[in-house]
Amino acid sequence: MAKDKKKGFFSWLGFGRKNEEETQQQEAQQNDNDIVKDVEKQSTHEAAVDAATAEVERQHQAEQAAIKAAEDEAERQYEAQQAEIEAATEQAEREREAKLAELQAAQEQAEQARQEAQEKKLAEEKAERERQEAEAMRIAEEEMERQRQLELAAIQAAEEAEEQRRQAELAVIQAAEEHAERERQAAEVARLAEEQAERERQAAEAARLAEEQAERERQAAEAARLAEEQAERERQAAEAARLAEEQAERERQAAEAARLAEEQAERERQAAEEARLAEEQAEREHQAAEEARIAEEEAEAERLRLEEEKNNSPTEQEKPKKEGFFARLKKGLLKTRQNLGSGFFGLFSGKKIDDDLFEELEEQLLIADVGVDTTRKIIDNLTAHASRKELKDAEALYGKLREEMSDILAKVDKPLVIEDKKPYVILMVGVNGVGKTTTIGKLARQYQSEGKSVMLAAGDTFRAAAVEQLQVWGERNKIPVVAQHTGADPASVIFDAIQSAQAKGVDVLIADTAGRLQNKSHLMEELKKIVRVMKKLDENAPHEIMLTLDASTGQNAVSQAKLFDDAVGLTGITLTKLDGTAKGGVIFSIADQFGIPIRYIGIGEGIEDLRPFKADDFIEALFAREE
Ligand code: GDP
Repeated sequence: MAKDKKKGFFSWLGFGRKNEEETQQQEAQQNDNDIVKDVEKQSTHEAAVDAATAEVERQHQAEQAAIKAAEDEAERQYEAQQAEIEAATEQAEREREAKLAELQAAQEQAEQARQEAQEKKLAEEKAERERQEAEAMRIAEEEMERQRQLELAAIQAAEEAEEQRRQAELAVIQAAEEHAERERQAAEVARLAEEQAERERQAAEAARLAEEQAERERQAAEAARLAEEQAERERQAAEAARLAEEQAERERQAAEAARLAEEQAERERQAAEEARLAEEQAEREHQAAEEARIAEEEAEAERLRLEEEKNNSPTEQEKPKKEGFFARLKKGLLKTRQNLGSGFFGLFSGKKIDDDLFEELEEQLLIADVGVDTTRKIIDNLTAHASRKELKDAEALYGKLREEMSDILAKVDKPLVIEDKKPYVILMVGVNGVGKTTTIGKLARQYQSEGKSVMLAAGDTFRAAAVEQLQVWGERNKIPVVAQHTGADPASVIFDAIQSAQAKGVDVLIADTAGRLQNKSHLMEELKKIVRVMKKLDENAPHEIMLTLDASTGQNAVSQAKLFDDAVGLTGITLTKLDGTAKGGVIFSIADQFGIPIRYIGIGEGIEDLRPFKADDFIEALFAREE
């Protein structure tokens, strides 16, 4: 049993088997011994056998102990070797891991360095891009600024030129009016002298002497009055000189601006120079035409005055006046008439009605600026009549055409009726140069002569000249003008004017407005604002929104009508400068396309040349055959 318990390393290698054999041998020996014992027991040598057996037993135990010690030693050595191997393995593992960690750290460090280098490169590229963009932007901004400066200089120069032209026109008008006034006064003096002489011939000699005395006194008073007027004229001349001086200063500034513009762009300077020369030439031509016109106007005014003098009963007086205007209307429409109206007669005479004739007619209507749509409408109506065989000959066609054209104008023949509103507010709109200010002056004088009190509002605060022109004119005609400084809010000027007119119980307030088309949308917003502000004081104001159009601009006038009608809704139109233009046919285009009442027409610059529009008179003058 003890042998089994101590089974160790060597027992597995074969020692066990040996022991077994030995055990078997020992057991066999034991058996032998037992037999011997049994035999010897019976013999006398029994004690010697026991001693020998005990010796064998002792040797066997000693051998077992030696075997066990050897096994233990072998076991211990094996375990020590194992421990050494394990320790060596662990040490190797630790070294490998440490190497690995070092390697990894080195790799990470390299990666980080690479990333940092990459980031730095990207940042530098970005900074470069930003610098280039900033540079490009700065150059673009400089370019824009330069362009803006150039545009500003050009606009200012154009504005100055326009003001200069207006000043010159104003001076010419004033001179003409003063001249006419002097002549009228001279004629008046002569007429009174004649009457006086007549009375003197009939009176007694004593009375004649007394009369002469009275006449001398009257003449002295007249001379004093003339001296007063002379002083007034001198004051106005001084004012004109002051304005001319201001104009010269403005011109100097414009020249300075032009010089700067020259430095910036030589090419642009040349273009500006050419434009200036063209403008000067146009101005010279305009002045020559103006002088001729004024001379003609004076002669006509003189002729009318003499005519009026001859007819001094009230019923007879009306007729020549009407004829005077009608004759001038006919004369004014001369060029338009060569294409339209009586001009058709030449076209139709001796022709039969066919497609060719209609084609020629269409062409003629277009030349006279009747406009594509309205021309089409007229031609369609005529061809419809012709195809129904209602038009037998060219004479009948002529009559029908007159009828068609008359129908178009009849629809817009609605004179302006000034209602009793106190004030009845008329808002005047229109682009610069169409004759708006002139029309305001003429209307104011006409309403004044009908016994109405009139006030003006200088709403074109953009142009200093426009405000001054209205103020000077108002002063001369004893018509109050509400104005503020240049650049003031036009809506505020007109608001003040309405308040003042309400307070004073004025019958008619006419408000001027700006007409610069350089900034169309801004102008339209300004007009809308004026209308809004007016309604704060009187919700029905303005009672009339009147657009002034220049007939000589032809189809441009149609575009202007659309622009202003869309923005503020027009209630009336005044069509100026029908005199001397071949484009008067535009009246049909405007009437047909918009249906807005045409209140007045202008056929010249004189006060008498603006009249309420009457379709019949217009058609009659247009179709009149004799010159
Ligand atoms: P505004 O800029 O619209 O105020 O225009 P103005 O009232 O200053 O007029 C411009 C020019 O047109 C001036 O010389 C006027 O005398 C002239 N004018 C105005 N109405 C007529 C007209 O019916 N016939 C002609 N021939 N000239 C006119």
